[in-house]
Amino acid sequence: MNNISTVLKNLGILKLNPAFSTGSNWGATSGAKTLDSFSPVDGKKIASVQLATDEDYETVIKKAADAFLFWRNFPAPKRGEIVRQFGEALRMHKEDLGTLVSYEMGKSLQEGFGEVQEMIDICDFAVGLSRQLYGLTMHSERPNHRMYEQWHPMGIVAIISAFNFPVAVWSWNTALALVCGNVCVWKPSSKTPLCGIACQHIIATVLKKNNMPEGISNLLIGNSVGNLINNDKRVPLVSFTGSTRIGRVVSASVASRFGRSILELGGNNAIIISKDADLEMSIIGAVFGAVGTAGQRCTSTRRLIIHEDIYEAFKNKLVKAYGQLRIGDPLDQHNHVGPLIDIAAVEMYSHAIDKGKKEGANFVVEGGILSGDAYQSGCYVKPCIAEVENHYEIVQEETFAPILYLIKYKTLAEAIALQNGVPQGLSSAIMTLNLREAEQFLSAAGSDCGIANVNIGTSGAEIGGAFGGEKETGGGRESGSDAWKGYMRRQTNTINYSNTLTLAQAVKFDL
Ligand code: NAD
Repeated sequence: MNNISTVLKNLGILKLNPAFSTGSNWGATSGAKTLDSFSPVDGKKIASVQLATDEDYETVIKKAADAFLFWRNFPAPKRGEIVRQFGEALRMHKEDLGTLVSYEMGKSLQEGFGEVQEMIDICDFAVGLSRQLYGLTMHSERPNHRMYEQWHPMGIVAIISAFNFPVAVWSWNTALALVCGNVCVWKPSSKTPLCGIACQHIIATVLKKNNMPEGISNLLIGNSVGNLINNDKRVPLVSFTGSTRIGRVVSASVASRFGRSILELGGNNAIIISKDADLEMSIIGAVFGAVGTAGQRCTSTRRLIIHEDIYEAFKNKLVKAYGQLRIGDPLDQHNHVGPLIDIAAVEMYSHAIDKGKKEGANFVVEGGILSGDAYQSGCYVKPCIAEVENHYEIVQEETFAPILYLIKYKTLAEAIALQNGVPQGLSSAIMTLNLREAEQFLSAAGSDCGIANVNIGTSGAEIGGAFGGEKETGGGRESGSDAWKGYMRRQTNTINYSNTLTLAQAVKFDL
C-alpha cells in the first residue's frame, strides 16, 4: 500500500488547494477561510483546503447553467460514453482512491476499495441506461392522435453527501444525473473534502479529454454552500444524503421553493433472528452489520430482535464473537474495526451508552474509548452490546457508532411490530429457513422499510436495486432499477394528425 502523500500525488491532487471546481478550472477567493482534513486513523492532518465563498458559489452555478444548455442536447448515448470513460478512469485509480477513502474516512481498506468498485459498477449501469431512459406510449381516446410520454433532464442537480460514503454516493447520483442530461454540483462532507477533490479531478480529466465545456461536473467545498443550494431556485433537484436532522431542514427549504429533493437519511435497522434461523450465518451477518465501518453505515445493524427460544444461546455466541474482534488501524487488513470519524462522534457514542444505562439498558459487552499508541487519534471505541426494550428513547434514535441492541420476541407478528416500531425505515432483514415467515416478512403486512432481506443482514446493498428508505429515512431512491426517473422531468405529448380538432372527453366547442 502506498503512503498518503504518494496516494495524493498519484491522484494528481497534491498541489490543488481549491474551494471550487467547474471541471479543469479550480479556484478560490483569495483570503477565504480554510478547512483542515484530519485522518481519524492516526489523528494527523492530511491537508488544508479552502472554503467556497458566496462569490465562488455564483461562479459555479453560472458555469453549470451554461453547460446545461450544451449537455441537455448532447445525445444520451454520447453522455453514456463519457460516463463509460469515467468508469475506466476509476478502474485505473481504484487502489489510490480506495486508500484515500480509508485514510480520510477511517473505514477498512477493503471497504475503501469496495466503495470505488461501487462507483465503477454504477458507471457500467448508467452506460446501459443511456440507451434506454424509456417513456411509454398509450392509446388516445381521440381518432388519429398519438400519445406518449418522454423524459427530459431537469437542469442543475445538487448533490450534498455524507462523510461515511465519501465517494460512492456522489457517483450514484452523478453517473445517473449525467446520462439523464443534467449537470451536477457536488458539496461533499466537510469531514472528507479530499475524497471530493480527488473524484472531481478524475471526472474533470475525462471531460477535458473529450473537449467538453466547463460546468458539467462541479465541486464546492464548505458547509455554508448547503444553505445556498437549499434556497436557490436555479437548482431544481437537490439530492441530499445525511442525517434526518439536517435532511428535515433541506427538505423544508427546497419544498418551500417547489424544488424537488431526493432524501437519503438515517436508518435504525434491525435483523429478526427466528428460531428457524441458520445461527452460524446469522452471527456473521449480525456482527458484520453492527461493527463494519465501526457502525457508521446508514444500513448498519442497530437492533437484533431474537426469538425467546434461542435468545440466550444467540447472545452467548455474540458475546464470544465480540471477544475476537480486533480494533485498530483500518489500513491493516487484520483488523475488523476501525475508528469513528472524529471526537464529536466518540462523544455521541459515549452519550448514547450513558443514556441507555439510565433508561435501563443491560450491557452484556461493555463499551469504552481506547487509548494508547495504536489509538492516538482518540477515535477508536469498543463495539458493545446491550439488552434493551424497543421503546427506550435511545433505541428509537440512530446512534452512528457500534452499539448493538438486543430485544426478545415471542411471535413473528410481535417481531415485525418491533422492527417497524421506530421512526426510520431504511434496511431490515429476517434470518429464517421457514418459508412462511420469510414471505410474511416481505408481504404488505411485513417490514415497512425500503430494503427488506432474507438470510442476509441489513448492511450494504448492490447498485442494481433502487436504494433508499421510508418514514424519517426520507423516501428517496438512488442507484439502480428506475431510480433514474427521479433525475428527470416527465412530459406527456399528444399529437393530432387528423384534419379536425377533437377535444378530450368529447367536449363540444363550436364557434
Ligand atoms: P450530516 O447530516 O451531518 O451531513 C450531511 C451533509 O449535509 C454534509 O455534507 C454537511 O456538510 C451538509 N450540511 C450540513 N448542514 C447543512 C444545511 N443546513 N443544508 C444543506 N447541507 C448541510 O450527516 P453525516 O454525519 O455526514 O452523515 C451521517 C448520516 O448520513 C447518518 O444519519 C446516516 O444514516 C446518513 N446516511 C444516509 C444514507 C442513506 O442512503 N440513507 C447514506 C449515507 C449516510
